Amino acid sequence: MNLVITGANRGIGLELTRQYLARGDTVHAGAREPAQARELTTLADASGGRLRVYALDVTSDESVRAFAAALTEPVDLLINNAGRRTRRDDLEDVSLEDALQMLQVNALGALRVTRAVLPRLRGTPGAKIASLSSGLGSITDNTSGGGYGYRMSKAALNMATRSLAADLRGEGLIVVTISPGWVQTDMGGASAPTQVSESAAGLLAVLDRVTPQDSGGFFDFRGARIDW
Ligand code: NDP
Repeated sequence: MNLVITGANRGIGLELTRQYLARGDTVHAGAREPAQARELTTLADASGGRLRVYALDVTSDESVRAFAAALTEPVDLLINNAGRRTRRDDLEDVSLEDALQMLQVNALGALRVTRAVLPRLRGTPGAKIASLSSGLGSITDNTSGGGYGYRMSKAALNMATRSLAADLRGEGLIVVTISPGWVQTDMGGASAPTQVSESAAGLLAVLDRVTPQDSGGFFDFRGARIDW
């Protein structure tokens, strides 16, 4: 399988890359600063050409265009993993600039990359597009408030997923949004209950299983449906 992962230089994106490589897939991995993505480039050096690393900033039209142009093979799976979350995000201290930046990366970035990679996904029967969302993007689940910029950006990502699923259903593409759980990464912090290896293994299993009937769905990393 040929897949694309954004934000692959650390955290969940790096672990997803590792696990897909370990099972024999070919990964096209995007990183904002490949020269500084040491773990990723070390993996690439040992991959026998199955891991290719590209410069990719999902907020930049130019960067996304150049990345998509470098993809010459059909793509079976796109994982929009790149994400951003700022600390100060509550009613009293949220910076609207930061909120806009989260919308740029988490929602518009995923849409920008999806549109650019679409020609490579089309024509691959059963190709999949998965975006890493969060329970914090669930409106139903929001009883605790706060997290304005991040929650809004993930809710927007969820809505984009529904529209993409509807627009691409006729072409046989499967589009889902998926929560990795609360994971021990730079973003999730050290007290998160889920190890990155466990989250990534769960995400892989869910993505292997999703069918056209699941398109437009919101799942957690164990495969359970999340309410919008
Ligand atoms: P990290 O903060 O550990 O990693 C984020 C990744 O996204 C980095 O590779 C970062 O690159 C990349 N990134 C940020 N901005 C851009 C950009 N403009 N263009 C390209 N790449 C970018 O996060 P996680 O690994 O924990 O999270 C991965 C995904 O899972 C995110 O979408 C996140 O919202 C989601 N998620 C995570 C949870 C958790 O508990 N960890 C919970 C729920 C959802 P760089 O190193 O250059 O900054």
